Amino acid sequence: MIVYEFKVKGKNQQYRAIDEAILTSQFIQNKCLRYWMDNKDSKVDKYALNKYCAVLAAEFPFADELNSMARQSAAERCWSAIARFYDNCKKKVKGKKGFPKFKKNCRSVEYKSTGWKLSETRKAITFSDKKGIGTLKLKGTYDLNYFCLKQIKRVRLVRRADGYYAQFAIDVDGRIETQPTNQVVGIDLGLKYFIADNKGNVEPSPQFYRKSQRQLNRANRQKSQKFSPEKHKAKLQQSNNYHKARIRYARKHLRVSRQRKEYCKRLAYSVIQSNDLVAYEDLNVKGLVHNRHLAKSISDAGWYTFRSWLEYFGHKYGKVTIAVPPHNTSQNCANCGEKVQKSLSTRTHVCPHCGFQEDRDINAAINILRRGLATVGHTGTYATGDLPSWAVGVTLLSNGKSVNVESPPL
Ligand SMILES: [Zn+2]
Repeated sequence: MIVYEFKVKGKNQQYRAIDEAILTSQFIQNKCLRYWMDNKDSKVDKYALNKYCAVLAAEFPFADELNSMARQSAAERCWSAIARFYDNCKKKVKGKKGFPKFKKNCRSVEYKSTGWKLSETRKAITFSDKKGIGTLKLKGTYDLNYFCLKQIKRVRLVRRADGYYAQFAIDVDGRIETQPTNQVVGIDLGLKYFIADNKGNVEPSPQFYRKSQRQLNRANRQKSQKFSPEKHKAKLQQSNNYHKARIRYARKHLRVSRQRKEYCKRLAYSVIQSNDLVAYEDLNVKGLVHNRHLAKSISDAGWYTFRSWLEYFGHKYGKVTIAVPPHNTSQNCANCGEKVQKSLSTRTHVCPHCGFQEDRDINAAINILRRGLATVGHTGTYATGDLPSWAVGVTLLSNGKSVNVESPPL
């Protein structure tokens, strides 16, 4: 499955219609969740939620206006959150089990195979349900003519800080055969670096991280200064200047998340191209990473994006990617295996047992690779739920969340 994204151009009133469709989709998701919560004893499943959509459509005219398969798609989003919760309970995941939440800031609505039609040139799309979205121009360099219509499984309309987008989820097997490189690599998310590998190569944190952090903080401060708590209390509208600052802030976020994406994509591509096997820490394992995780929070978002692209390219080019549990990878000696306690500020690993000396991140990378090689042959390298995280941008089952969506809600 690949996802092509186009910016869409329409009239203001069409954008309002998209907003309305997104809101309806959110309404259905929340109603489904409520229905499940109220009927826990009677075993509400995926099909029951699908049927419930028809009930909602009969009861609420605005729900009826949304295409029936788009309604179902909303119910499926809700179901995937419930299913993940069940799954976490069954697997006895430590800590919070992720009880499904009501949605407040949905930013997309998803159509399946009906309710839309591409123009002859495939440079425009018309939505035919009663939401009145009408015909939107598609702006972008991708060519949809290359695919047959049946391959387009979903069409999603997404709202971002700088406008509206259409995503097409296209069913193609994008695997590409490559020559083996006879190289394997272990990667540590460095404290000092963005990543460090077991061979001693380091990739410094990109400058835009720090720079953008400053800009974001500044924009955020300006936003807060223009926020009036009195108006908020009195449930009055905030000033125009506040809303301008808010949009400026949201756009900055969008820009940073795009920069991050480009950077991570390029880095992940080069790592995958030059190795047959890549091992890295599975930082999604809950309750294992307390302190370390906190210390890395600045580059966390980047690491998550990087990992997603790594797994995506790994899948595409037929390489092995392994997420290993991060227990003690930075503490243990990569040479003799003894545990050498060190605080976060200790940059160098010096082993009192065998005398081995190495940068702490590189030492960790060696441990990660070793652990990765020890688990090859096992299945279940995707540690994060039902969807492998290489499904970049594919929010089909992932509860409306997407790796691409990182700007704050409008
Ligand atoms: Zn040692």
